[in-house]
Amino acid sequence: MLAIEKLASRYGRIQVLHGISLEVRTGEIVTLVGSNGAGKSTLLRAISGIQPVAAGSIRFDDQVIDRWRPHQRVARGIAQVPEGRQVFAPLTVEENLRLGGIVRRDDAIESDLDGIFAMFPVLAERRRNAAGTLSGGQQQMLAIGRALMARPKLLLLDEPSMGLAPVLVEQIFGTIGDLKARGITVLLVEQNANAALAIADRGYVIETGRIVTTGTGKELLSDERVRSAYLGI
Ligand code: ATP
Repeated sequence: MLAIEKLASRYGRIQVLHGISLEVRTGEIVTLVGSNGAGKSTLLRAISGIQPVAAGSIRFDDQVIDRWRPHQRVARGIAQVPEGRQVFAPLTVEENLRLGGIVRRDDAIESDLDGIFAMFPVLAERRRNAAGTLSGGQQQMLAIGRALMARPKLLLLDEPSMGLAPVLVEQIFGTIGDLKARGITVLLVEQNANAALAIADRGYVIETGRIVTTGTGKELLSDERVRSAYLGI
């Protein structure tokens, strides 16, 4: 579904991605593991089209998408849940969700909205409340729901469990498993490498803008280097 080859990206004169190659196959959960500043968010942002690509290519569904505008990528099936949720605080929960479907031209918006409310009942209860009044966990659900309103084939999740209490972290990882069961392909960035690799089909380890190891979730969980650097074992 997604094939990235030798991708380079920079902020001004500082290069932060140095020839990243990775692929995500249809139906997989793929996890990106790496320390702070390794370039994980930059990579997701490049896939979404909000971070320029300096070299290399990104293919999605067998088309080179490097020059597509972000909204075109959303319309073709790539949606991102950004780090820190980034909900529109003054707008209501429902308005945030409707914005997620803004590029759609079909008539299933209402039924999809009902589907999101069924998936996250707390959002239905808070439907008319400003998004800024939700708790961190509720805002994370809203950010995921907003992305799902675009009916993505590929969902990019940037640190969905960050700052959440353990019970909510568990819930978010449960949700990611449900998304896979619904046929959505997931590229997941997580500091919580243990839980993320446990639900991943495959993973990549990124260090200072380069992929240094790849393998199945299970292989990476038992890799000595991964264990000592990222799992604290
Ligand atoms: P974290 O886990 O802390 O979110 P990350 O792996 O997602 O880290 P990035 O946010 O992609 O890392 O950052 C990669 C590098 O690019 C870092 O050195 C960071 O300081 C730098 N960087 C990120 N955003 C910008 C920006 N807007 N301008 C300049 N440098 C940036």
